[in-house]
Amino acid sequence: MTFENSLSYAQGLDQIDPLRSLRVQFYFPQHNGRNAYYFCGNSLGLQPKGIKAALDYELEHWKTHAVEGHFRGEMPWMYYHKFLLNQSANLVGAKPEEVVVMNTLTVNLHLMMVSFYRPTKERFKIIMEGGAFPSDQYAIESQIRFHGFLPEDAIIEVSPREGEENLRTEDILSTIEKHGEETALVLFGGVNYYTGQFFDLEKITKKGHEVGAKVGFDLAHTAGNLPLQLHDWNVDFAVWCSYKYLNSAPGGPSGVFVHERHGDNRDLPRFAGWWGHDEEHRFLMKKGFVPMKGAAGWQLSNVQILSCAAHKVSLDMFEEVGMPALREKSLKLTGYLIYLIEKLNEKGGNFNIITPKTPEDRGAQLSILTGDDGKALFDYLTENGVITDWREPNVIRLAPVPMYNNFEDVWWFAEFLNRWLDK
Ligand SMILES: *Cc1c(COP(=O)(O)O)cnc(C)c1O
Repeated sequence: MTFENSLSYAQGLDQIDPLRSLRVQFYFPQHNGRNAYYFCGNSLGLQPKGIKAALDYELEHWKTHAVEGHFRGEMPWMYYHKFLLNQSANLVGAKPEEVVVMNTLTVNLHLMMVSFYRPTKERFKIIMEGGAFPSDQYAIESQIRFHGFLPEDAIIEVSPREGEENLRTEDILSTIEKHGEETALVLFGGVNYYTGQFFDLEKITKKGHEVGAKVGFDLAHTAGNLPLQLHDWNVDFAVWCSYKYLNSAPGGPSGVFVHERHGDNRDLPRFAGWWGHDEEHRFLMKKGFVPMKGAAGWQLSNVQILSCAAHKVSLDMFEEVGMPALREKSLKLTGYLIYLIEKLNEKGGNFNIITPKTPEDRGAQLSILTGDDGKALFDYLTENGVITDWREPNVIRLAPVPMYNNFEDVWWFAEFLNRWLDK
């Protein structure tokens, strides 16, 4: 695709954007009386305007029906998790029984590892990406210790080659092959939070299974960003959060995928709670845990109605638009951003994009390694109402999100970089 560097060209792209009407369904933070240029949807998604009414509805339901609210109305609380299943399944390419929404991400990562990290003396290693998100590192280390092993013995990290920023798929696969017999679990992010690299989940899963390991993914930066086919790719489990690309309020609930070949295995060890117990007999309050079929059998507690009501509003939007349409726009938006940054580099800018430029290896996010004055640049952007994200030592991350960002936003971002260069 060929682009042009002008405001009128960007506005022209917005006029023919089939998703342009979505933008007004979100609240933008304000800067000097107008919408800020918001590029942190990879960190905290904007608030859909429809969420307030959904929360009011549940508050009213509680006020009016109190405990009877569990059984009354169109969406009785007793069955509330079911009202999120179809949309969650379509979002990640799963069957409805393979997904459930519950808890928060790190909690679910632990619950999944309880079931799918079953180390033995011979096979106890976990292969993960070097520089994974800290919560994932801590969860993995603590699980390893919990089983009586040492992180330094059990963790194998795959890192970029000398002088490179991204992982090569061939290196990931050869690491799995090399440590195959000792590896219990391969656990990767879908998109690395720092570089924005999207990994080849299908190939990683296939290779992990070939050596006899389980394979799971943390999709915090992937769900709602890229189309996924978790069922067909044969992934064992996955977890994601709902407040980044999925716009469902800070601390919003997490999604879980468990492949159907495990979901129906009632003998799989797991940490249990009453909401995962066979629904028909749950209120007999008897001894003896019998898990529900599918991912729902991993639920512990009754549903967090307010946060799930917020999440449902957003999931319904994703369901209506569909990931293919979002991805199509996302490729153009981020492609335009790359084009504009490269123009600035031709002009003497020092904006080194460390995210893979090949579209199939990234989602919406770009990570830009800046020069020594990176923090000053970041502050300049912030003062001008351009909201991005700063990561030490020198990286500005930004994500034009197809749900609500437009080409004009992207053009203005580059224009402020341009003004910075001219200063
Ligand atoms: C955002 C993020 C988390 C956050 O975990 P919470 O339990 O939701 O606080 C964890 N892992 C990754 C990879 C993330 O991007």
